[in-house]
Amino acid sequence: MKVSVIGASGRVGKAAAFCLAEESVVSEMVLLSREKSLDQIQGEALDMNDAMAAKDIRVSITPSCNFEDMAGSKIVVITAGVPRTADMTRMDVAIPNAKIISEYSRLVAKYAPESIILVVTNPVDVMTYVAYKASGFPRNRVIGLGNHLDSLRLKNVIARHFNIHVSEIHTRIIGEHGEHMVLLLSSTSVGGILVDDFPQYQSFDVDEIVEKVKNAGSYVINKKGATEYGPAFAIANIVKTVLNDEKRILTLTTFLDGEIYGVSDVCLGVPVKLGANGVERIIKVKMNEDELNSFKIAGKAVKESTEKVTAHLNGNLNSSSEE
Ligand code: NAP
Repeated sequence: MKVSVIGASGRVGKAAAFCLAEESVVSEMVLLSREKSLDQIQGEALDMNDAMAAKDIRVSITPSCNFEDMAGSKIVVITAGVPRTADMTRMDVAIPNAKIISEYSRLVAKYAPESIILVVTNPVDVMTYVAYKASGFPRNRVIGLGNHLDSLRLKNVIARHFNIHVSEIHTRIIGEHGEHMVLLLSSTSVGGILVDDFPQYQSFDVDEIVEKVKNAGSYVINKKGATEYGPAFAIANIVKTVLNDEKRILTLTTFLDGEIYGVSDVCLGVPVKLGANGVERIIKVKMNEDELNSFKIAGKAVKESTEKVTAHLNGNLNSSSEE
């Protein structure tokens, strides 16, 4: 099974590649970057090979800036993008990143036309829409990482609050990977028991917890300059689920066409059944009134941003094609 990572010289790209190299289902991996970073990704590939030898893992890792090398990939992960500093919102980087995502998605469509695109670059919901439109792929083959990572962060926060093993926490964040994320409290359970049955629920402040998860990325960026391991392992979860056709229900960004309470023509995080074909089903979750209102607000906000970004992108494309 072949996987390609575009943006492999970046912190998330190389951490994700390292996690993926360890997955037994990945036999071949291409690390892609711009030419100026070729030396770096050559170094990364050699270093990863040494690590894999220590673990008796055989995987072919090819560093390249020739995008034809992604041919035959089952999944292409895109992490390339202008970095977000702690004082920037995800939207501040939307316009430059849309251009990058649009160009790379076209290359993926050209050289790996049967692949699944996993977008990581922020703002990921908007970028997933850009990748979907630019690639021309069916929507089941264009997904984004966002709320899966948020949901993992939330699991951690809940596990600490209830002092219960993280594997016992079943919960989900849907909506936007950003300001308008929605905690699905009505579908949250601890060891299969509804969360409000626990005595610790009395001191469970939902708004405070949502704020914690919302700011988790910025908090890490403030402390160490970037998030790496969290996104990398979340990416590996998704890639492994596709390659093994696991049919897990993960919360991923996908294009909506009215399946969830009529929200349409926007990419948002929702629970999906994920397998070898990408999104095999969008799961319509039950929401209480507050959750549904928040989800609709998320849809509206992301749609507005998407429209701004795509208008800019189309304007740019038109003016550059006139030159
Ligand atoms: P980074 O370390 O700065 O790496 C950025 C990567 O993008 C590098 O590989 C760089 O390649 C490439 N790049 C930069 N400008 C480019 C351009 N104009 N054209 C083509 N490639 C370009 O950033 P990072 O920390 O890895 O983060 C990467 C992206 O992931 C960011 O958008 C970040 O916000 C996002 N992210 C998303 C999530 C999520 O849950 N969705 C989580 C974490 C991070 P060169 O070496 O060639 O410059």
